[in-house]
Amino acid sequence: MGEERAPREQMEYDVVVVGGGPAGLAAAIRLKQLAAAAEREIAVCVVEKGSEIGAHILSGAVFEPRALNELIPDWRERGAPLVTPATEDRFLLLTRTRAVPLPTPPQMRNHGNFIISLGNLCRWLAEQAEGLGVEIYPGFAAAEVLYDDTGRVRGVATGDMGIGKNGQPTDRYQPGVELIAQQTLFAEGCRGSLTKTLVERFRLRDGLDPQTYAIGIKELWEVDPQRHQPGLVVHTIGWPLDAATYGGSFLYHLEGGQVAVGLVVGLDYRNPYLSPFEEFQRFKTHPAIRPYFEGGRRISYGARALNEGGFQSIPRLDFPGGALIGCAAGYVNVPKIKGSHTAMKSGMVAAEVVFRRLAGDDSAEVGRALRESWVWDELRRVRNIRPSFRWGLYAGLAYSAFDTYVLRGAAPWTLHHHPDYTRLVPASEARRIDYPRPDGKISFDRLSSVFISNTNHEEDQPAHLRLRDPAKAIAVNYRLYDSPEQRYCPAGVYEIVQPAAGTEPYLQINAQNCVHCKTCDIKDPEQNIDWVVPEGGGGPNYPNM
Ligand SMILES: Cc1cc2nc3c(=O)[nH]c(=O)nc-3n(C[C@H](O)[C@H](O)[C@H](O)COP(=O)(O)OP(=O)(O)OC[C@H]3O[C@@H](n4cnc5c(N)ncnc54)[C@H](O)[C@@H]3O)c2cc1C
Ligand code: SF4
Repeated sequence: MGEERAPREQMEYDVVVVGGGPAGLAAAIRLKQLAAAAEREIAVCVVEKGSEIGAHILSGAVFEPRALNELIPDWRERGAPLVTPATEDRFLLLTRTRAVPLPTPPQMRNHGNFIISLGNLCRWLAEQAEGLGVEIYPGFAAAEVLYDDTGRVRGVATGDMGIGKNGQPTDRYQPGVELIAQQTLFAEGCRGSLTKTLVERFRLRDGLDPQTYAIGIKELWEVDPQRHQPGLVVHTIGWPLDAATYGGSFLYHLEGGQVAVGLVVGLDYRNPYLSPFEEFQRFKTHPAIRPYFEGGRRISYGARALNEGGFQSIPRLDFPGGALIGCAAGYVNVPKIKGSHTAMKSGMVAAEVVFRRLAGDDSAEVGRALRESWVWDELRRVRNIRPSFRWGLYAGLAYSAFDTYVLRGAAPWTLHHHPDYTRLVPASEARRIDYPRPDGKISFDRLSSVFISNTNHEEDQPAHLRLRDPAKAIAVNYRLYDSPEQRYCPAGVYEIVQPAAGTEPYLQINAQNCVHCKTCDIKDPEQNIDWVVPEGGGGPNYPNM
């Protein structure tokens, strides 16, 4: 095939939503509900980079149904996959050998919530959206924001398919499609790749706290029926993480004999030798945890970053032609360990504003509407809890108890955040960590884990992990930090290879293994890694994560 590329086709909508997660789908549904109530026709489309809706969704998840109750009050009759009410909460402090029960803080009490697969909830939301006339295109990654002459966002373009590693079209070549819209909502979730460019271009974060993040690593198990207690919610803090590292685990007993287990590690960790993946594997071997998995079978694996900045890190949401919604902006309530209800609500609020904008009300603002919603109040009350853990686990717990029980979220001060990528200390000042070898029964290695994430990428395509300055991989990351990307990447994408003793090492990027967690884009100490979308449909294929 020659170098001449076919022009991109254009499709026009009133609203394009980028990302088919809870935020994007809730926004699309709300728009269509409003249009139906006003007897107006509006065309809404959702693009999703996963091969199907839900394929890239990874969450805990204990789900608070507040936003869903508002969006689809008869969700029970419509068969929403919320079938396991949370019945019991346990909160444990782990030491190497012991598990000490702690009182469950009020934010972590789950009465009235459900243990779900967020992927399955999204699949069901997509059916509801399609029933209302939303066009959903899974397998299409939005690769570029389109602007008009005045700098206003006029839609997005999906990525070309069939461009080879060398940047030239192959015989699979299919040009991307321009999705033109009056309003574009970005619902890419945590650390969205187009969102990152919008934040920079429209300076949406100037004068505000940086966003901060954690990585969550999760497995789904089928466990011995004797050890299964549907509705049980267990959270732990402490071991295997040291007191200076923020994080904790979750263990949720779902329906069907399944248990979701995961470890969340704050990306402000300091030791470049820390490996969140291996911390998680080691966590499962704790004497209080291991019995849940003995005789069971691991059926899925994956990882995803989540936002932890909360209230003080919410960026400006509006820009000409659209807005940010969901975790693209960042609404995780950290002490609750929940963000899907706030993501949905933010999508619904934005839909209401966009609907007014389409009717000619240019003064309608998503930012203002969000400030008037319960999302704002909910996040404001807990804003100081996560940043207090920079003083260490025990001081953080003490402060959080004081903030929650005495001040009741009404402290007259606000603690601030530092960007995660500035936190690593040089390897020469850090303690090496010896992780135990996986036993292949309870604990596993990275490659067998990635295998069950069903991750797949077309091999002949340009790299979707781009180094701004390739020389820094060795000059800075390797020499100063002993290449922490080898350890924080949960999929073994980054590998330092030294062809022979005495030769110069180089960084090999196994991009086909990438599970789209976005951790490298966040944690690289020089912000030298840009994660951009690969061909649509590539990446993990999570079943019910
Ligand atoms: C380990 C872990 C545990 C969690 N536990 C809980 C919990 O128990 N309860 C809870 O309420 N919340 C929990 N959360 C948080 C919750 O999952 C998020 O707040 C929620 O998923 C955010 O929804 P969203 O729609 O904004 O983004 P996402 O759920 O991330 O969805 C974004 C979607 O957009 C797609 N996308 C991204 N970029 C593009 C693009 N350029 N083109 C096309 N498609 C794109 C993605 O593939 C994805 O499908 C957890 C998160 C993690 C990581
Ligand atoms: S390459 Fe980056 S985004 Fe992909 S799995 Fe590794 S850390 Fe996550």
